[in-house]
Amino acid sequence: MKKFLTIFTSIGVFFAGILRAEEPVQSKPLVVILMGPPGAGKGTHAVELSKKLGLSHISTGDLFRENIQKGTPLGLKAKEFIEKGQLVPDSLVLDMVFDRTSRSDCVKGYILDGFPRTIAQAEALNHRLENSTRQIAINLQIADNLLVERIVNRLVCKKCGAPHHKIFLPPKVAGVCDQCSGELHQRKDDTEAVVKERLNVYRKETQPLIQFYSDKNVLFHVNSVGKKETVFSQLLETIQKASR
Ligand code: ADP
Ligand code: ZN
Repeated sequence: MKKFLTIFTSIGVFFAGILRAEEPVQSKPLVVILMGPPGAGKGTHAVELSKKLGLSHISTGDLFRENIQKGTPLGLKAKEFIEKGQLVPDSLVLDMVFDRTSRSDCVKGYILDGFPRTIAQAEALNHRLENSTRQIAINLQIADNLLVERIVNRLVCKKCGAPHHKIFLPPKVAGVCDQCSGELHQRKDDTEAVVKERLNVYRKETQPLIQFYSDKNVLFHVNSVGKKETVFSQLLETIQKASR
């Protein structure tokens, strides 16, 4: 009997060893790239995914808005592009993003919201990450006719950036952020005219990234129309399955 126990214990130790040997592969940082047109819900879900998955949320739009608010040289340059609905030049975006991703809260991975937005940005990201991380790109799918309505009725938190919607996702207390109690406001680039330009830019510059990530076999599609909770659970399930 004692002999059997010893054999079983040895087998157990052997398998535990194998499992442990696999750990470093499993613990590669995870980079989730959230894609989709303006208004697809990237920001809405990124905030909650970040909490649920314990990954940092990096929104290039929020980073630019922070810089604009503080009046930094980067903010001053970015402002003129953003207010017209155009993209900020790649060189300004890349420095800002890579500076952010090199901070200590990104070692386990992060969620990219609004980046990359051009093929050049995606290539720079690939170059930067090489094989040191697992990358998953999620394309949030939504019909064009729903986007403008989502954006022009959007209210965004001044403090944490969490998006709300006057009709579809009204805050519990009018004008106050559900997440952090910050003040809600309408973004300057969320007017109908600017949104139309942002959608044109999206189609020309950003949509080609769907093929880019599909060619790399890391692309997943999630339907972004329907109840927020349903979309969120599909998103979570997709990321969890893909990152296993
Ligand atoms: P949305 O996804 O709703 O369009 P964001 O808050 O992500 O809004 O971005 C707002 C604006 O910031 C964009 O219209 C663009 O001008 C600028 N911007 C954000 N991310 C990038 C990026 N990766 N490259 C270039 N410009 C960007
Ligand atoms: Zn907030």
